[in-house]
Amino acid sequence: MTHSHLGALLTTSEQPLHASLDDVEQVKFQIIKKVAYFALATHVLLILFFAQIGALTLAIVNIFSVLAWGSGIFLISQRLHALALRIFCIEVVLHSILACATLGLELGFQFYLWTISSMLLVDYQLKLKQAVIYSMTLIITFAGLYFFFADVTYNYAYVSLLPYINIINIIIAGLPMIYAFSLIREISISQRIELTEMAAKDHLTKLYNRRFAKQLIIETRQKSIMVDNQICVVMADIDMFKQINDTYGHDKGDAILTIIASALTNQLNSTDIIVRWGGEEFLIVLANTNEADAFVRIEALRNHIQALSLLSIKPNLTITMSFGLIEWRPLASLEKTLQQADAALYKSKNDGRNMTTIATPEQDYMIGV
Ligand code: GH3
Ligand code: MG
Ligand code: MG
Repeated sequence: MTHSHLGALLTTSEQPLHASLDDVEQVKFQIIKKVAYFALATHVLLILFFAQIGALTLAIVNIFSVLAWGSGIFLISQRLHALALRIFCIEVVLHSILACATLGLELGFQFYLWTISSMLLVDYQLKLKQAVIYSMTLIITFAGLYFFFADVTYNYAYVSLLPYINIINIIIAGLPMIYAFSLIREISISQRIELTEMAAKDHLTKLYNRRFAKQLIIETRQKSIMVDNQICVVMADIDMFKQINDTYGHDKGDAILTIIASALTNQLNSTDIIVRWGGEEFLIVLANTNEADAFVRIEALRNHIQALSLLSIKPNLTITMSFGLIEWRPLASLEKTLQQADAALYKSKNDGRNMTTIATPEQDYMIGV
């Protein structure tokens, strides 16, 4: 089954491949685990750094930070991801507030509040309302830091390092935000593709369903007008299918529908549109095809179906289909064209089945269109 039609409707990026949701989730926790190890190592170094510059309170607090990251990593190994994330958030928030209160704002520890604020919004364990409230609280806290600690001046060793530490903090604080938004992007694209597939396809035959196909057909029609190409609409119906169901049972009937659907897909081009229109009725739209060529192609399809070997159902069982064909006339609506194809199909059935009828103006008159 090609994705070309779906892709055209979705108008997403050019790349056809997207990670599945499970992959995204797995990668997310792998990255969180790596980040946690990185944070653990950083906090061990920070103990030494704070002790070195003489900020003893911060050095002691960092021992607790190391314990927090260590226990978070343990929780991840126990698959308690949500709890680990909570601990990481609380650690980062308390740590950045305390660092600003002690060292002032010049080192840029306040920017981690923005990081956590955006991470909370992608934590699906939180309800949106909760996440927004927590996130907003952190942004207000960020503003509050400038209000309360604007006068705190740095009076520890290595003053010349302040601008560099500021830059490092800004970059490290920014990375998780870039990651979080990339993740949302990836998840929403994968979900959109999965949902569109589910909404577009018929469960049994995996062909397009009627509701989805209408939009697709109208777009294909518009494209064909632009390039001045003909387009044909074919209504197809399995002959005496009720009898097949009655003889072999509904499950075998379903199996035959699936076999017919794959035969249609294999015999037609990927630019053609094949739709499960109703129970045992299919709609085919032949792109870039005039009436004469369409007739030849549909006759070939009809012969192919008649010759299908249905050994899994019963040896020597023959299934036939009837077709009604019309070339989409200028200015005709989809509804009118479908009615004309339907009338031609009706004639095939009336004339003895297993045949292709091309719609004629007389039939137009008969069905009053
Ligand atoms: P005709 O040649 O005139 O089209 O005769 P027919 O028996 O095919 O047409 P009719 O409309 O009388 O019966 C259609 C049958 O298709 C009846 C219904 O049980 C069967 N059918 C419709 N949808 C499904 C399905 O999803 N699975 C199965 N197994 N049968 C289905
Ligand atoms: Mg039928
Ligand atoms: Mg029918």
